[in-house]
Amino acid sequence: MMEYVFEPSQIPTVAVNGTSKRFPVRRIFCVGRNYAEHTREMGGDPDREPPFFFTKPADAVVDSGTEIPFPQATSDLHHEMELVVAIGKGGANISQEMASKHIFGFGAGIDLTRRDLQQIAKDKRRPWDSGKAFDQSAPCAALTKASEITNITSSRIWLTVNGETRQSATISDLIWSVDEVIAFLSVEFALRPGDLIYTGTPAGVGAIKSGDKIEGYVEGLTPISFTLK
Ligand code: MN
Repeated sequence: MMEYVFEPSQIPTVAVNGTSKRFPVRRIFCVGRNYAEHTREMGGDPDREPPFFFTKPADAVVDSGTEIPFPQATSDLHHEMELVVAIGKGGANISQEMASKHIFGFGAGIDLTRRDLQQIAKDKRRPWDSGKAFDQSAPCAALTKASEITNITSSRIWLTVNGETRQSATISDLIWSVDEVIAFLSVEFALRPGDLIYTGTPAGVGAIKSGDKIEGYVEGLTPISFTLK
């Protein structure tokens, strides 16, 4: 029995549909630019850029239906609606053909971004952590097991703020498909069960403020929602 100098933090978890058991989160990976329209709105060229990755701490996950305090140190908090892939079987250098075998399930998630701090980091060629990896920056709805989903690629993905649609696309609009993302990512990092991958956001990202209700949908999955305190 391991003893600690103080009580360790709880393992961060995400709900799973159809069971009271929780998905234990190990790491959170995020794809930087994965929809052409969003790449253009951020000043990039969707034709030439291979996927790149950044991370958030595992304990950035937040259940759907909660109230999230407005984060510290920002005056430009953005929503980024994303399909989340939950890894159930680890591996490195996973081929596209084998990628689906490593997927536990899918979820609807939001990559909350302190855009002002991210912009400073970009301007000064610094890491993105202050813009991306802050507390409660990764709301994620209950996962649906991959075996219960026939074809996630044809699903619509959209986000509303106070009932008004801000982002809308189809998963097939992804520049790099889920299988390709797993293949690329697993070249750089050995994946493990419990890893979450936020696969990138469509165009239409924008600022949210205290009191706003944010609701995100991926057709066939449980919606994600939260209110900003
Ligand atoms: Mn994102």
